[in-house]
Amino acid sequence: MSDAIPVTLIPGDGIGPEIVSATVRIVEAAGARIDWDRQLAGMAALNAVGDPMPVATLESIERTGVALKGPLETQLGSGYRSVNVALRMRFDLFANVRPARTLVPNGRYSGVDIILVRENTEGLYSGVEHYVKIGNDDHAAAESVAIITRAGAERVIRFAFEHAVARGRKKLTLVHKANILKLSQGLFLETGRAMARDYAGRVQFEERIVDAAAMQLVMAPESFDVIVTTNLFGDILSDEISGLVGGLGLAPGANIGEEAAIFEAVHGTAPDIADQGIANPSALVLAACLMLDHIGHEACAGRIREALETTIREGQTVTRDLGGSAGTHAFADSIIARLT
Ligand code: NAD
Repeated sequence: MSDAIPVTLIPGDGIGPEIVSATVRIVEAAGARIDWDRQLAGMAALNAVGDPMPVATLESIERTGVALKGPLETQLGSGYRSVNVALRMRFDLFANVRPARTLVPNGRYSGVDIILVRENTEGLYSGVEHYVKIGNDDHAAAESVAIITRAGAERVIRFAFEHAVARGRKKLTLVHKANILKLSQGLFLETGRAMARDYAGRVQFEERIVDAAAMQLVMAPESFDVIVTTNLFGDILSDEISGLVGGLGLAPGANIGEEAAIFEAVHGTAPDIADQGIANPSALVLAACLMLDHIGHEACAGRIREALETTIREGQTVTRDLGGSAGTHAFADSIIARLT
């Protein structure tokens, strides 16, 4: 495949392999020329080669600069550290972009079209945690440190403004908790306020405290356009936003850095429905569309989005979570049949 674009493909764990194979079929049927480099990560890699993040996988992403990834299992509390978090740190994927748009007709909300940009490497997810020993109790207290740097805040807020401009968006809402966390959240807010001057007249800048933003998202989601926020708030709010438009089965995410970008569904490995062929592939299909946009195949991405939306609107061949009874591959076939 001489003119094909190389992309690292990670099937992942649980429902990962099922939705990844459905997605690859759709992307290829839409005519995108991609040279997939299949690699392992997570539990599948641990079982196969004894390492949840094999060197071969890292080298592949270094080489291609683009990966499409199925969800990876993370053991709670103990076990290996989240491979998802480690990949973000390893490739410095500082911006996590999670778009959410109303696709399912007659849902609770219509007209939701929000892009959330979450800072992906700092804040409470910096990994700086320790226990404090008091007397004989080694675990008498625990501390998790929220680190915000001016450079880290600048690059993600700049990214959010530029993303808004590139997509013709009108407003950027910076979500924070600077009223309580005056230093760390204050630095993030101060950075956004300063940068807003560069975009005056092009992108309206708005500030919201996170608790008020969470309520406003439920009361009037259509009042939001692009949101930028710190790591933990972004993690929580992006799931809330995906709930506004039909749930995790429809929520894609992109992790973007200077050197690499990894595209994935927001949902996890769904162990309760794994290996049954009933998982909804839509979130990963939409993630693949973000990837196609990223590598310059916007037309192809547009055709896939159209076909996916038509399939969902018609409602005949959708998975159980969308009120239907179709399996993963039947859903994919229906999307492929509607590609124009
Ligand atoms: P989950 O997203 O896997 O599942 C939550 C619920 O949503 C389940 O009932 C599941 O059946 C349903 N669901 C999720 N995706 C679906 C789909 N495509 N179609 C239909 N239903 C779907 O969340 P969880 O159970 O909290 O996590 C399971 C595992 O996934 C954990 O090990 C977690 O660490 C991991 N995880 C990985 C990622 C990632 O790789 N980016 C993200 C989140 C969670």
